[in-house]
Amino acid sequence: MTEVVVIGGGVSGIQAALDLANHGIDVCLVEKEPSIGGHMAMLDKTFPTNDCSMCILSPKMMDVYRHPRIRTMTCAKVVSVSGTPGDFHVTIRMMPRFVDPEKCNGCGDCIEVCPVEVYNRFDAGLGVRKAIYKPHSQAVPDIVVRDTDHCIECGLCYDICGREAILKEDRERDITVHAQSIILACGYEVFDARKKDQFQYLFLPDVITGLEFERMMNASGPTGGKIRRLSTGETPRSVVFIQCVGSRDVPLGRPYCSGVCCMYAIKNAILLREKYPGIDVTILYMDIRAYGKGYEEYYQRAIGAGVHFVRGMPGEVTGQGDSIRIRVENTENGEILNLNPELVVLSTGLEPAPDAEDLAGMLGLPRESTGFFRTLNEKVDTVATERPGIYLAGTVTAPRDIPDCVAHSGAAAMRAFIDASRNSQCR
Ligand SMILES: Cc1cc2nc3c(=O)[nH]c(=O)nc-3n(C[C@H](O)[C@H](O)[C@H](O)COP(=O)(O)OP(=O)(O)OC[C@H]3O[C@@H](n4cnc5c(N)ncnc54)[C@H](O)[C@@H]3O)c2cc1C
Ligand code: SF4
Ligand code: SF4
Repeated sequence: MTEVVVIGGGVSGIQAALDLANHGIDVCLVEKEPSIGGHMAMLDKTFPTNDCSMCILSPKMMDVYRHPRIRTMTCAKVVSVSGTPGDFHVTIRMMPRFVDPEKCNGCGDCIEVCPVEVYNRFDAGLGVRKAIYKPHSQAVPDIVVRDTDHCIECGLCYDICGREAILKEDRERDITVHAQSIILACGYEVFDARKKDQFQYLFLPDVITGLEFERMMNASGPTGGKIRRLSTGETPRSVVFIQCVGSRDVPLGRPYCSGVCCMYAIKNAILLREKYPGIDVTILYMDIRAYGKGYEEYYQRAIGAGVHFVRGMPGEVTGQGDSIRIRVENTENGEILNLNPELVVLSTGLEPAPDAEDLAGMLGLPRESTGFFRTLNEKVDTVATERPGIYLAGTVTAPRDIPDCVAHSGAAAMRAFIDASRNSQCR
């Protein structure tokens, strides 16, 4: 019997699954994407240490996948939950991969021959992938998936695959497992910058989001780690970061602080100055929120590295083609600045995961007005829910950084572990 079902295979779900399995609990980790890893797998470095994100995450992903007590299910979603605490019946739908996971060894020959290129969601839309693909080079499991929406059935991949792993037909399969507890770790979604149309995202090619910047900075990303203007392909000489895009915005219905955007902008500004000392870097902000351990020092490091911090939020970004104009008041001294950056990076906030509503209905869990899940008590019980046996881990409750997610997930795992221990004593 599976003892705990963990929904979501980002760093939060991974940490909860590992903590439980390392204490002898059998876990079923359910991830809807073809690979586990979540948003952390998309990041380049992490604040405040500038450690490589995948250097931390990748070993954990492998540990999960190889752990004898963890059953990792990718391309999978929970579709129904019934039963009672201690005996939940969780039905998991395995979405068709059109590849036999038992036969595929991840060699990538099929990817080489596939003639179809589609924009790659993992590269935040900047790069391309094939119709048969791995989301990224360190995907776990290290096997491919065939995207039948874009496949033209040319047959080249079937011919080249010596293992006959590629399936012409595949179908959904439902599996029901019995679980004593459930941990929900379905994470967050990045705010859609198109909703702030005054910043011209997708209208001006050199206005990008923080996540796109992370993918550009990443050596295995679409530009091989080089920061480029999408208009000219050149390295920008000046970059402006605009903070709080989709955060602390009452008219937009997003009144909360996204918690991580100040720090990730500071991180990317430092990395930019270190990689390209000649680039002029400015951060336009309302307040800098550097609340965590070592974060204030990190902010000071950015100032020392020559990053300009201007307290002031522009009303709009204007321009045409490769020319950008930003007019902003420095609210500390009343000075009006007219900036002409060659690249603008929007520090987009965090919002509830797209499946949050469905999962809330299925699990019978309340959410807050922000859409994030409500915990039993904001001060003294930040992982339990109104439903005994169902716990929350990571950004599913609120925007959080990685250290906070790891600690929160450990707490959720401990609660599920206590349930399992109690139930085994009763048997
Ligand atoms: C641009 C940017 C830069 C950042 N930089 C940093 C940094 O330097 N340092 C730092 O500490 N933090 C940083 N963060 C924050 C960091 O990304 C998060 O703290 C962390 O990734 C949250 O992990 P999570 O597991 O809670 O959520 P996620 O990473 O969102 O993982 C959730 C997982 O659940 C899966 N899922 C969703 N719905 C379902 C479903 N119905 N069924 C099954 N699976 C489902 C998703 O596919 C995903 O794999 C950054 C964020 C952004 C946007
Ligand atoms: S499907 Fe075949 S060719 Fe493609 S990666 Fe798997 S084993 Fe290699
Ligand atoms: S059959 Fe589809 S996935 Fe395979 S090579 Fe052709 S287009 Fe690509």
